[in-house]
This record gives sequence, C-alpha cells and structure tokens, in this order.
Amino acid sequence: MKKDDIYGLIRENIRALAPYSTARDECKIDMEVYLDANESPYETGVNRYPSPFQEELKRMVSSIRRVPVENIFLGNGSDEAIDLIYRIFCTPGKSSAVVVAPSYGMYSVAGNINDVKIIYSELDSEFQLNATKLLSDVQDDTRVVFICSPNNPSGNLLDREEIIRIIENFNGIVVVDEAYIDFAESQSFSELIGRYPNLIVLQTLSKAWGMAGLRLGIALADTITIGTMNKVKYPYNISIINQQKAIEMLKDCVGTVERIREIKENRSKLAMELSQMECVSKVYPSDANFLLVKFKEREKVFKELQERKIIVRDRSSQLHCKDCLRITMGTEDENRRLLDAIREITGEIESKAGPSSKKEGCITEGKKCRVGKVSRSTRETSIQVCINLDSFTRPYVRSGLPFFDHMLEQIGYHGGIGVDIICCGDIATGCHHTVEDTGIALGEALAQALGPKKGIERYGFALPMDEADAMVLIDLGGRIDFKWDVEFREQFVGEIDTQMFSHFFKSLAENLKCNLHVKAKGENDHHIIEGVFKAFARALKCAVRKDEFSYGVASSKGVL
Ligand SMILES: *Cc1c(COP(=O)(O)O)cnc(C)c1O
Repeated sequence: MKKDDIYGLIRENIRALAPYSTARDECKIDMEVYLDANESPYETGVNRYPSPFQEELKRMVSSIRRVPVENIFLGNGSDEAIDLIYRIFCTPGKSSAVVVAPSYGMYSVAGNINDVKIIYSELDSEFQLNATKLLSDVQDDTRVVFICSPNNPSGNLLDREEIIRIIENFNGIVVVDEAYIDFAESQSFSELIGRYPNLIVLQTLSKAWGMAGLRLGIALADTITIGTMNKVKYPYNISIINQQKAIEMLKDCVGTVERIREIKENRSKLAMELSQMECVSKVYPSDANFLLVKFKEREKVFKELQERKIIVRDRSSQLHCKDCLRITMGTEDENRRLLDAIREITGEIESKAGPSSKKEGCITEGKKCRVGKVSRSTRETSIQVCINLDSFTRPYVRSGLPFFDHMLEQIGYHGGIGVDIICCGDIATGCHHTVEDTGIALGEALAQALGPKKGIERYGFALPMDEADAMVLIDLGGRIDFKWDVEFREQFVGEIDTQMFSHFFKSLAENLKCNLHVKAKGENDHHIIEGVFKAFARALKCAVRKDEFSYGVASSKGVL
C-alpha cells in the first residue's frame, strides 16, 4: 500500500472535516498576555487549557519509543485510540472489523458502540495466528483488523511473519496492539511504520510504565493517520495534570526498566512453581506481565482465592481458555501469598524446591554489586543512568539518537556490565546537549559504582578492533587526563556530529575522574567510532575488574 492510499480508507466526512481550531493553534510564537480563550487569568496551575498536542510529553515518548514525534498520537488510554480508529475508518452500519479471538474485549465493545460489525478470527489452540486463515475471514466491507501481540489473555507473542503477511496483504488498516511489548523479548512493530502506512501500533503507559491511573495510551502510525486522529480527537484530550504527572514520571524512569526485569524474573519463577502443582494442568508461555493458567478445579480456586482477598481474572468463558485463570504478576511477596493460598485451598504441600529466597538488591557470589545511579536534569536534557559493574543485563538505552544508542549499547555488551540510559532531551536543536550530558552522567554513574575502588585492577587497555584500529587506555587511579587522537572523514556519522564524540569521552573522563587516551584511525567513520566504543568498553572491563588476590588498593600510596 502506498502512503496516499490511506486517504482512500478514511471515511469521506472525516476526510472533509475541518477540525476545531483555537487561536493558539494559529500562532506559534510565545505570547505574554492570553486574552483569547475566555480562561480565568488567575493562576491556579490549571486555569489555562492544556497543550492540545502534548509536545513535551511526546518528545519524551519519542525517545523512549524510538519513533518521531510526528508519528505519535496520545490518547485518554488506548481505549481512545481504539474508538478513534473505528470512527475514522469505519462507517456505522456498513463496515466490519476483524478481531482475533480470544483477545482484548475493548475491540469489540468499541466496535459495537460505533455500530461496526465484528468478525472474530480464531487463533489456534496454542493461541497462534495464521495469516491465510485471518485473511480468509476478511470481507469486502472489512476496514480494520485488530491483532494483539503479546496477546491478552493468552500472554504469547503472535508470529511476526504472519502479522507482516497480513499487513502486506490486507487492503485496510492493521492495528497491532502492543500493550505488553515491554515484557517481551521482541522488537516492536513500531519500527515498521515507515514501511507500512496501513499499520497502527498501539502501546500504553498503563502497564509496564505504571501509569494506569493516568490514562495515557499511545498510537504510532503514518503521519496521515496521526494527523487525522489529531483532527478527530477532543481538542484538549489530555489534561494538564496528566501531562505534568507523566512528564515527571518519565523523567525518573530508569527504575521502571529494573522493575520490568524483575517482573520477567518473577514470571519465570511463578510459572515454574505453578507448573509443578498438582492442581494446575497447564501454564501457558507468557511474554506479558501475566500468566494464563489452566486449573483442575478452577471454580473452587477462583472463589476461595477471593475469600482470601486475592483476585485474579477468570477467563474460562473465552475461546480455548476453558478452566483458565489469568494471573497478573504482583510483587514477589504477593506472588508468594498467591502460591500459599492456592496450596491451602487444594491441600497441596510445597515441593522440595522450597520457597524462593528473597533477594536484597543484586548479589553476585555473596558480594553486593557495584551499582551507580545518576539522575541529571538541566534545562535542555533530563538523563538517567544506571550502571552495574558486576552484573550484565541486556542494555536499555534510549537517548533519542538511534546511532548514539547503538554506540552506548556497546559499552554494556563489550564491557560485560549493566548499562541503562534514558535521556529525554531537546534534540530539535541538535545532538550537542544530549551527547555531552550523557557523557557527564555516565562518568558520574561509573564513578559512583566504583566507590572507593577497593581491589580493582585500575588499569585497562584494549587493542585493535575490526579493520579500523582503535586503541583505548584507561587508568582509574584518579588523575584526570584526556587524549583524543581520532580522525573522521565526514562531519556526521549517523545523526551525530563526529566532533561530539571527543566531547562525550572528555565529559565522561572528567566525571569518572580517570585518565583516558583514545586513538583510532580507519577507512569508515562508523567502524572507527564503533571501534572506539568497543575498545573503551573492553578497557573499562579490565580496569573495573576485581583482582581476586587483592583486596587492597592498586596503588603504591595505598589510596586511589
Ligand atoms: C491493558 C490493555 C490496554 C491498555 O489500555 P489503556 O486504555 O491504555 O489503559 C490495551 N490493550 C490491551 C490488549 C490491554 O490488555
């Protein structure tokens, strides 16, 4: 489908619609006296109308979701986006929509409200999707297909290739609801919105990001669709309070990344414990923050859990879900309470595995991990960095600059350390602030993680990388020095001005209080800088390593 074909899918009256316009839409410059909207002039924090297109919040969502601002719609929950999709693409009493089954109830409720016929396309008994089957369920009047992946209530990701076949072969809108994507080890479909104008990806801040009470849903799509959603929505659909609260929470969200990891860990533990229980006949594989579990005595378990003040969701009436309860992941204590309650109800005794011990922070081989956490806000950027020198986890890096993200991830992968970096900055004015401030925050976080530097190797060095030569020498002894001898051929690599890399490493060295010498040359700028990041990671890995024979300080003076 070509981009302009989207116009043909939009209902005629919507295409012709002139949106409500405010005086402030028409004038972009900052004013000082606002006498245009009949608001109260007395400051209360909420006396003015909110920003209708939520620019600041969208910039933050844009870095985290790696989608440009112009491809983002924010709504009063995903529910608003679902309703708008019906109102934009379906004609009441005439159109139909195909919805996978079993799945999220709002697709059919919102469809029914809009008088759109719902056609259920059944997943197989393992809750998998077959494109040929779904496409055969499509009728002439079908305008929209709703797919949910990871799916609710089953919890599994649907086959990516099958979804792509549907997007490529259905001549209408395909909605992929990714409410649970943060809990899955899979790439988001959002990276495909540039390629497929008929694709709408729904995400939400309600689940992994912990903001269900704020009601903030996200739709990611081609600019024509987003523009049309903006035209049809209520002019001020997200209140000032909601926008402010979400901005505040996103500025402090590295903790969210950790909590998502914890929920994924707890999910495997709970799945394992449940699957060993006599009363459980099946635990379905999950890529979400819940488990679909088939019980032998579902009704008894459900009822008696409630008597013990534990509520789970009975999904037994749904297709392929006979005797299934859907269980959301709680905290570790809550999950334990659930297991104990189920055992009490069914009279089972705990298996020999015993209760899982409660961890305190991250502990490797009996020693506490060296962790550094830095949150840094300036007028231009808001950055959070979390470093763990003793435990590798898949890096979570969102700077708003894709190439820079890729480079920063190398520090995690090649340094064998945990690296989480979230930066929400104003990149419209260039990458300068983001790159430099990230260098500062990363240096501070590394210094914090190293603490008194007891027992570390102190020195690090790395050797040639790839076909480009990159050499990085590091001394964590405390003297600050920085040498940079790197030649680039072009002014830009990716979206980054190549000059910025020396600023990045300089800021990092100053804040880590280290001696850092970097030398690199080669044919290709991308390889040169990637070599530098990898060599830096390797050098850092050597230098922060604990020398198992020494618990002292690697200095003749006895202090670093
Ligand atoms: C929870 C959920 C949503 C989120 O809806 P909001 O209105 O954004 O809270 C969307 N889709 C699915 C499948 C869900 O389970």
